[in-house]
Amino acid sequence: MSTVAFVNLAMHGHVNPTLPLAAELVRRGHSVGYHTAPAFAGSVAATGARVFLYTGGDRPLPGPPMPLTMLDGLARTTADLLPSVLADLRELRPDLVVHGAACPWGAVAARELGVPAAALFTTFAFDRRTPSPTRASWDLLAQAAARPANAGSYLRSRWRLRRRGLPLLDLADVREPLNLVFTSRAFQPGADAFDGSYRFVGPSLGARPADPSFRAGLLRPPVLYASLGTVFDGGPRLLRTFADALAPLGGTVVVATGATDPAALEPLPGNVLARRFVPQPEVLARAALFVTHGGMNSVNEAMYAGVPMLVVPQGADQPLVARRVAELGAGLSIDPAGVTEEAVRALARRLLREPSFRAAAATLRLAQHEAGGYARAADELEHHLSRGSADACRLSSS
Ligand code: UDP
Repeated sequence: MSTVAFVNLAMHGHVNPTLPLAAELVRRGHSVGYHTAPAFAGSVAATGARVFLYTGGDRPLPGPPMPLTMLDGLARTTADLLPSVLADLRELRPDLVVHGAACPWGAVAARELGVPAAALFTTFAFDRRTPSPTRASWDLLAQAAARPANAGSYLRSRWRLRRRGLPLLDLADVREPLNLVFTSRAFQPGADAFDGSYRFVGPSLGARPADPSFRAGLLRPPVLYASLGTVFDGGPRLLRTFADALAPLGGTVVVATGATDPAALEPLPGNVLARRFVPQPEVLARAALFVTHGGMNSVNEAMYAGVPMLVVPQGADQPLVARRVAELGAGLSIDPAGVTEEAVRALARRLLREPSFRAAAATLRLAQHEAGGYARAADELEHHLSRGSADACRLSSS
């Protein structure tokens, strides 16, 4: 049996798909270490993994979520965390480091320790057709000119990390000899262009801790669900617009408000249930429609449940995701600037009435289920581990 170290970003979208995978590895008899922040310590511990806490507590991104602030945060976090992560890993002595593709300190630590590594993509895999939002681009340069504090802080962190083997440019697209992508080949644009190091394992969905305060059985059909995820704060106006637009079309309308206090949406129609956080897979299992920001996990989960989507992209990779959903006919997308109660209601009505959307969502549902999920991901990691130890044997006997 092997020791596997997960080194990951402490954000819901990055952590969620890894939890069933870590639990599966533990179930198969491996010992698993997992670096995370205090906010996720409980859910990581529940997988049976040994929790390593990052120093410095929970770390918010330095500024509004956009490619420059993300890169600034990643470079700074790498500089701050690398020494303690390396010390922990020297103690754990992993056979394999599994790091988020947007977690450069995991990649650098694996290289410095000479341990094989695998990368996890919780968004699309990136290439020319599907460009990473944090790649070098004119847009990124424009952001750097507009936010000199973030640009300066990014450069200072890179200086602290000189000669540490940090990837040259895109710190959120760090590839390894094995790259697990948590979506299906059907959803990845141009999947055939990726080499065999990319394995499209589909959404990794396992049981999540129950939330007894949420009575999913009481939701009345058709259930219409709106959420902008856990990172982007849509604010009360946008969320209330969704609620008002959907209320006349739905049985129960569920609105997950994230950073916004649900009380700020009031007064709301009687059939709207607004909560900061809801057990999303449970809601999606009952939903007829999902109004989403297009976070990759949310979209993967909606496809897994076969639910048509109205995507309202807020940033990051979400415009790419929105385009792909519309291209495959599983939903529609609307620019946030064009959101009005009437526009959202008209699109939602189409999504509910025209059977083609449900049919496309059903096709994707099949692809998402067939991709294999966390069990396939665990198989791939085990193959990677056995290849690594075979290589090590060959080296020591030559
Ligand atoms: N999520 C949830 N309940 C909520 C809001 C979000 O369980 O009320 C989960 C959701 O199931 C998904 C993750 O949080 O797994 C959000 O990830 P995503 O990539 O969609 O968006 P992000 O929050 O990273 O923008």
